[in-house]
This record gives sequence, C-alpha cells and structure tokens, in this order.
Amino acid sequence: MILAREQINRYLRHILIPEVSGPGQKKLLESSVFICGETVKDTAAAIDYLAAAGVGRIECQFNDNVGVEELLAGIHDLNDDVVIGVSDGSQCDFRIFLGRPEFILQKQEMICNAFVPTVISLFRSWTGGQQIFRDSECLCSFMAALAEVQQETGCEIPGENIAGEIFSSCVLAALSALEVIKLSLTIGGVTDDFCYFNLLSMDFFKRGRADLKHALIELCTPRQADVYESGLEDRKVLIVGAGGLGSPVAYALALAGVNTLGLVDYDTVEISNLNRQILHTTSRIGIPKVESAAVFLKHINPGLSVILYNTSLSKENIFDIIADYDVVIVAVDNFPTRFLLNDACFFVGKPMIDAGVIRFDGTARTILPHKSPCYRCTLAAIPAAGTIPSCAESGVLGPVPGIMGFIQAAEAVKWVTGQGKLLSDSMLFFDGKYSEFVTIKLNKNPGCPLCGTNPAIHQLQEYGFQCEDARNEEDKANKSNALSDCTLRCS
Ligand SMILES: [Zn+2]
Repeated sequence: MILAREQINRYLRHILIPEVSGPGQKKLLESSVFICGETVKDTAAAIDYLAAAGVGRIECQFNDNVGVEELLAGIHDLNDDVVIGVSDGSQCDFRIFLGRPEFILQKQEMICNAFVPTVISLFRSWTGGQQIFRDSECLCSFMAALAEVQQETGCEIPGENIAGEIFSSCVLAALSALEVIKLSLTIGGVTDDFCYFNLLSMDFFKRGRADLKHALIELCTPRQADVYESGLEDRKVLIVGAGGLGSPVAYALALAGVNTLGLVDYDTVEISNLNRQILHTTSRIGIPKVESAAVFLKHINPGLSVILYNTSLSKENIFDIIADYDVVIVAVDNFPTRFLLNDACFFVGKPMIDAGVIRFDGTARTILPHKSPCYRCTLAAIPAAGTIPSCAESGVLGPVPGIMGFIQAAEAVKWVTGQGKLLSDSMLFFDGKYSEFVTIKLNKNPGCPLCGTNPAIHQLQEYGFQCEDARNEEDKANKSNALSDCTLRCS
C-alpha cells in the first residue's frame, strides 16, 4: 500500500510524529476495529476519531440503531478511506465495548467467547473507567468481577444526569480510539490497570488487579444524581477556535444542551484538518470553519443557537465579542491569541478554560480572573518565535485534542452550573503515550505583570501576531521542502 498525495495531506499531523510516520499510517489504514455500544450517540465520538485517524475498517453494533444511517453517511464524508458497516465484528483486529456497566454485562457472552485485543470502557454520569485486555483470561476475570459488583451494588441508577453522561462517554470514546491506535501501531505503554476518572472532582487514578473490585464498586454504586442539570439552557459559551480542540468542545456542549454557542475562527476547512477536527468533512473543504461547524452542530442539536465570528480575534474586537458570554473556551494553537484572551478576560472578569495539545500530550486549566493564577503568572510574556514547537511542526495524534476538548467542555458546564471542582488552581497534564493523567498545583505569582501585587499591564498590549505568522510561513516552506509535495498549514 502506497499513500497517495491526498492521503499524505490528510494524515500529515500523524505523519509528522516519528512514532507514527508514513509506515504507521499505512498500518492504521490496514487495521480493523469492532465497536459495540448501547446507542449510536454513546459511541459516535469514538467512531469519528477512529475514522478521522484513518483506521481502515470499522464495524459497529448497537442495541438501539436510531441515527445509524446518519452516522454512516457522516463517516463517509469525514473520511472516504474508511470502510464502515454494521456487523458482529467477528473478523476485526481489535474490539471496543463502550457503555454503562449494565450494558457491558449484557454483552458478557460476546466479550468472553472470542478474543482479540479488547478495550472495555464503562461510564456513569461524570465518571468512567477503562481497561485494555491483551489476553482472554484477564478479560474474563474482569467480567466476572464486574458481574459480582453489579450483584452487590445493583448498578442501575435512575435519573442519571444527562450532561454528565455525555462528558464521561465522550472522554472514554476518545480514550478508546487512542488506545486502539496505540495497539495497532504497538507504540506507547499499554497498561493492564483499570483507569478511573471522575470529571466532577477531577480525580484520575489507576487500579491494579488487587484493587479492581474496589474501583468497580466506586463506579457502579448508585448515588444520587448530584448535579444540577437545569440552567444550561440559558447559558452562552464562546469557543475561540473551531479546529482540533474546538471540535470536541462544541460537539459535547451541543449534545449536553447548552443554549448558545459562539464560534470564532478565521480559517477555512482543509484536508489536513480532517484527521482530528471531527466537526468538518471532505465535502466542506474550502468553506469557513465556523460555517462548517454550524452545519454539524445544528444537525446534532437543531435547537442550538450558533453565533459565528468568521474573523481573527484582535485587541480591537475582543471586548465586543466576549461581552455576551458566560465563559470563554480557548481552543487555539498559538500564544498571541492565548495572551490576548488571558488579558482581556482578566480585565472584564470573565472565566476562561484553556487547553493545549502536541503529539501525544495535552494540558487543560481553568482561569478565574483575580482568583486563580493567570497565564502570565507562569509565562510573563509571549515566548520568542521558535522557542516552543507548535502542533503544526511536531504533529498531533487525532484523539488527543478530543480528550482535552471534552474535558474543557466538562469544565465549562461545571462552571455555569456551579458544580464540582474546577481546574482553577491546578493544571491537568495528559500523557497519551502512557495514558497517564497528572494534576499539578499552580500558584498565583505575586510578581505577575498582569494579576500580581504591582502589575505593569493595565490595558491590552501588542500580541505579536505578525511575528508568529511570519515564522509559520517560513516553517511551511521548510516542511514543504522536506516532505516534498506535502502542504503544511498551521491551523
Ligand atoms: Zn497572573
């Protein structure tokens, strides 16, 4: 199999990663995955990320087939390299089972009767757990432990929080896609532990075999639906960037029932966006990203109000644009826009939720002006051009921005509904190669030029867009030469 020129452009961000490169991408195109879920909605994000990444064949099965025709049509338009169908998945290289614990137990016979490497992903409202199995014995003993816990705890929880389920299932969906890609490419560390997360408390931990039952009890035990769900319908969230991070943020917030989403992006859809930017499709290449995103979002939530800003943020327009919104989500890939947002949100007291991704890694944090450390507390000024690599230079693996963007969306809903613990005095790091989440405490810096005790910045500055753009132009030229015909576009 030889990658065609168009495929090189499509998968360029993967090909730039040394561990993946061209041979890895070919291997993905020759791999097949079976994905089994209760509903199309629960698993759609996993299928989107697998298809976007170029996993060649995807077989799926759902208890409830509502929406399956639209899903298949959407995948054809997202990536025509992928063959997708509904089947029992008996001929696939890998399997993903994604659902509530009771659904996974319903599939026990199917899970235990045959074996290929399998990812089991369980979710409840706001919480989730995942384990990867490379042998049948471990898988069957896990299923036996789950059955035992269900008998003890009852598992079924009436009146679960819908938004909470959306965030936990979406994070698991992107994690599942990432694990299958790593299994297919035999890269990174595949843990045999059960990985558990709680998006309300932002706790992430791993449990070995000895503690598995305890972790499953934590996931399965009925608890009161403890999250205030109403109140989302009159909330407005602004997303700056409709690309790798903006796609999952907007996707999850639209599903969760946020009333109004503002989208800011000046770029148009390109083929090199489509390995990870799941709001966009092949047929929308060339149209503004905000318009392409609106088509997708209105499709999954017809009642959603989407306000489009097909422009780049500047110190002239930023206050007008952010004024109408409850919270600002930073889904950009450059420092000048981050610093502009940091400063503007500080001056008007607007919370902002930031994330960044590169290669296998991601970060996320929430900045509450005057309360939590701001961007300049750790990095006083915009780094000099060339000192920090960007994802356009180093690549990014498709599902990684998915995981971080879904976490940003969860943070936004926690903020607007006043629930849970925010990442406001800490930063979350995700190491996708080893599937590790680590939270690092951050402190306000009294010497910060913006929010410190003796600030030097009292109004918006110049944010160096010229310099960054010029550097990117230069990089484009260099990378284009190195990769012969490849087009490298920073987006
Ligand atoms: Zn500060």
